[in-house]
Amino acid sequence: MLDPIRIRNDFPIFRRMIDGKEIIYLDNAATTQKPYQVVEAIKDYYENFNSNVHRGIYRLSEESTDMYERARKNISEFIGSRDPRSLVFVRNTTEALNLVASSLGKSLASGDEILLTEMEHHSNIVPWQFLKDKGVKVQFARINENGTLSIEDFKSKINQKTKIVSVTHVSNVLGTINDVKELGKIAHENGSLYVVDGAQSVPHMPIDVTDIDCDFFAFSGHKMLGPMGIGGLYGKIDLLENMPPYMGGGDMISSVTKEGATWNSVPHKFEAGTPNVADAVGLSAAVDYLRKIGMDEIRKHEMDLILYALQEEHYIEGLRSFGPKSIHIRAGVYSFNIGDIPAFNLEKEMEQSGVKISRDAIHPHDVASLINGEGISIRSGHHCAMPLMDKLNVQATARASFYLYNTREEVDKFFIGLNDAIMRFRQ
Ligand code: PLP
Repeated sequence: MLDPIRIRNDFPIFRRMIDGKEIIYLDNAATTQKPYQVVEAIKDYYENFNSNVHRGIYRLSEESTDMYERARKNISEFIGSRDPRSLVFVRNTTEALNLVASSLGKSLASGDEILLTEMEHHSNIVPWQFLKDKGVKVQFARINENGTLSIEDFKSKINQKTKIVSVTHVSNVLGTINDVKELGKIAHENGSLYVVDGAQSVPHMPIDVTDIDCDFFAFSGHKMLGPMGIGGLYGKIDLLENMPPYMGGGDMISSVTKEGATWNSVPHKFEAGTPNVADAVGLSAAVDYLRKIGMDEIRKHEMDLILYALQEEHYIEGLRSFGPKSIHIRAGVYSFNIGDIPAFNLEKEMEQSGVKISRDAIHPHDVASLINGEGISIRSGHHCAMPLMDKLNVQATARASFYLYNTREEVDKFFIGLNDAIMRFRQ
């Protein structure tokens, strides 16, 4: 059984007090804290190995290149890839998805369709919308009332024109875990390419891209205890080999003449310019850390925390939470509102037609700000998922999101803090 109290000792930031209070960090869907093992790995790299990779024929450069490529192998194995060449280092999930959309987009034509879902983060919407200039249509599979994906609607929107299906593995608002293996089968039977946004899954559960059988899989290092500025794009080798590069520059070429260029082999074809070696090494240390604790254990721990939150929420008057109630299809993301926060257009409509809007509601920004006074960090806003906010008919939500260092006691403190905040607000 995972011991969050012992784990916390590895995280220097938890030694800090804010206004005399211990930090209760519940914004892990945005980014996670870093254990000293990761901080030390980066420090060690800069103190002892720093030099540019792939170019130097001297000791430091050889060592640096070796560390970078070993990090690639370690991280690719962590997500279940059988070949390190399938992992392209990028800055984050956003860059990974932009790379795929931009590169695959070059071969799309007017009338082609992309199928997404209503629960996507903006980074799995906007890069595809760029292709609208070419006449490409972006479709959205609906979600059900309970926050799960409607498979019927997904199936009804996939057709011969659907060239790419791109879905989130876990919703950063609802916590919904999509059956990405099943969705992939449907996509492939239709002849579509299949992309998975793993930003909220890789940090929290065992991942096997080979078993999922996705064509591409995107994730961010900073959401899995690693540093900011490094992430990964997994792609099937044959697909990566046949795709045009995303950015041009050093390292991604095989040769350049005044007339043109030929490309380096994968993954280097997609890694133009000096890469982020230190943070690749840091992310590899994060992977070692997570592996040692065990991804099954982390998932079990988060299931316990979300179950506890779903039990405790009944004590808070006027609280409405979002997402599936079954912890088997739910990650440790807990979005909620106090009272009704209708979407802007709905609010106007309600006012115009004389429907009374409950003024007992507390805006999520106020909720987050009030609870901050208790030393508790949660997020509020649209969570970069505005189409989902529209679907839920809300302007915004507050969100607590859990990780391996959070405890049931912290969930208790969160609800107590929330209750106190509501009382103070209404006084
Ligand atoms: N996809 C999902 C589901 C996310 O939750 C996020 C970030 O919150 C992203 C993509 C984008 O991640 P990044 O900002 O690291 O690129």
